[in-house]
Amino acid sequence: IIEFRDVEKRFGDNVVLKDLNFHVNKGERVTLIGPSGSGKTTILRLVMTLEEATGGIILIDGQPLTHRLEEGGKRVRLSNREIKRTRTRIGMVFQQFNLFPNMTVIENIIESPVHVLGQSKTEARSKAQDLLGKVGLADKADAHPSSLSGGQQQRVAIARALAMDPEILLLDEVTSALDPEIVDEVLGILRNIAETTDITMLIVTHEMQFARDVSDRVLMFDGGSIVEDSDPHTMFTAPTHDRTKKFLRAVL
Ligand code: ATP
Repeated sequence: IIEFRDVEKRFGDNVVLKDLNFHVNKGERVTLIGPSGSGKTTILRLVMTLEEATGGIILIDGQPLTHRLEEGGKRVRLSNREIKRTRTRIGMVFQQFNLFPNMTVIENIIESPVHVLGQSKTEARSKAQDLLGKVGLADKADAHPSSLSGGQQQRVAIARALAMDPEILLLDEVTSALDPEIVDEVLGILRNIAETTDITMLIVTHEMQFARDVSDRVLMFDGGSIVEDSDPHTMFTAPTHDRTKKFLRAVL
């Protein structure tokens, strides 16, 4: 469902990703691990179209995401309208929640379903209330984000992403800003989503136990390239590359 073909991303002279090729199948849960600065977050931001690749193309279900290749190899950017259409199929949860502070919890959740998908407010509210139940916050619909704990805010952000019925969910270090004692409540909800839906997930996390539990595949990155691509059991118990062994020794 996600395919990177020879993707390059540079910021000025800094080449963050080079000739990157990988694919994620529909329904698969793939975790990206690797040292800080290896380009993991950049990959999620490219899929979310918050950044655009400087080379190569990214396909979603075989359709170009932001650029297509013409015969002869010329790279052409799609129209904003085309890009937006694909983006609605993808949801993202960020490290820093990114809730709208001036809106209540339920207003945060229904914003995109109403304004992007054109759902009626009544329909969107009813779905949002169900989702709040799923993340254990049924009684917080009218609260403002600032009155909630970090863990609660992150659960609202998860509900907000799910409200768009995404086919692909991108999770970027979603527990990194949380106190250790509430990390588990957020990971528990994500485990539940992984078990009860077939949403394709691309995950960046430092929580190796979580990566092991929910992933079908783990990709180890270093310096903008994939150094190892394995199932979680192999990756965490018998990695083949020295770079992976060294990284896992430092984080496990
Ligand atoms: P971390 O685990 O620390 O989040 P990461 O593997 O997710 O690391 P990225 O956040 O993708 O790494 O960053 C990769 C590189 O890209 C870094 O060198 C970073 O400085 C650079 N970078 C990311 N975003 C930008 C930007 N908007 N402008 C310039 N450089 C950027």
